Amino acid sequence: MNEHLLEIYNKLPITLTHGEGIWLYDDQGNQYLDALSGIGVTALGHNHPVISKTLSEQAQKLIHVANPFFTKEQSQLATKLCQLTGLAKAYFSNSGAEANEAAIKMALKYGVDKGYKNPKIIVMEGGFHGRSLGAWSGSCDQDKSIFGPLIPAFIRVPFDDLGAIKKAYQDNAEVVAIMLEPIFGKGGLLPASIDYLNALRKFCDKNDSLLIFDEVQSGMGRTGRLFAYQFSNIKPDILTTAKALGAGIPAGAFITSKKASSIFSPGDHGSTQGGNALACKMGLTLLDILESNNLYENISEVGNYLQDQLTEKLNAFSLFDKVQGKGLMIGIKLKEPKKATAKIGLKHKIIFNQAGENVIRLLPPFIITHADTDLIVERITACFREL
Ligand code: PLP
Repeated sequence: MNEHLLEIYNKLPITLTHGEGIWLYDDQGNQYLDALSGIGVTALGHNHPVISKTLSEQAQKLIHVANPFFTKEQSQLATKLCQLTGLAKAYFSNSGAEANEAAIKMALKYGVDKGYKNPKIIVMEGGFHGRSLGAWSGSCDQDKSIFGPLIPAFIRVPFDDLGAIKKAYQDNAEVVAIMLEPIFGKGGLLPASIDYLNALRKFCDKNDSLLIFDEVQSGMGRTGRLFAYQFSNIKPDILTTAKALGAGIPAGAFITSKKASSIFSPGDHGSTQGGNALACKMGLTLLDILESNNLYENISEVGNYLQDQLTEKLNAFSLFDKVQGKGLMIGIKLKEPKKATAKIGLKHKIIFNQAGENVIRLLPPFIITHADTDLIVERITACFREL
């Protein structure tokens, strides 16, 4: 408890002090298996030797300079992300919401440049893009009325439903973009079908609108590819990412296609600390480790094993519906809403959280082994016995 912390998180009753690999420790000496990675941030686990060493070396060299100056770290990360995605230019923020805010502003400017009075962005029912005003306005499971009028630029359609996209274009002459998570994160760890993503690309090309993929949660290797959209053969016009990008240091990125790269002019957007040398060095280090340690393969292989094992063991429980997701982005869907599942997790010394009312979310670190996976399954099964 701390009376000076604003109560907006429903905090759990433990105080964490340190971590090592997949393990977290509290101030009472308890050890917890971290199957959440700080909601997808500490993707290489805790106290990773290369991350800790690089962090300390970079801190002694350069942490931050004003954005009108070039740094080697920022330029190298932009180049690397563009090479790996086939996109053209990158801008760096400090978080996912900020990256999405830039995407929303860019889409709206694209419409205004065309002479539209009320540019509209199609978003998905159940989607989530962050808690800043624009990102919140485009997110869908919130009670919107509590903040009064939000940004009236969003049209909501059901996920993975092409008929709804077609109708949205028919009903609205000024659609400028379609924005979605290729795998729903907070909305339940649900992948969109590849056919749907392909069709969205076609809709955007035909209507000269921008395709925006929010890979804040699904990006940076989490699904077994650098970005989840890379399971398809298409590319977005705008790609946002954050969470794991800084390997624990706040970082976000917004990457644009050649077409989208000319929409913003200097002064249209910016961030004081976004893209600082320290955060960018951590992004470069994460990408290096993903490649050199063959972690993509581990994520796919151990992710599939974990999903299979969970399905097999949890099938015995009437509460269990199914396991969904991709790689190490895993949702355990329950047949009915349940509250406080994370608290039950703590009793069984495992950390996870909930996505929506009836999905338990697992985002384990990319370094997990088969043996760690067996422990996760064992502890989740113990939670189900209690649920
Ligand atoms: N977009 C998605 C898909 C997310 O999952 C999140 C956070 O959970 C965000 C955006 C917001 O990111 P941040 O909390 O870094 O602002």
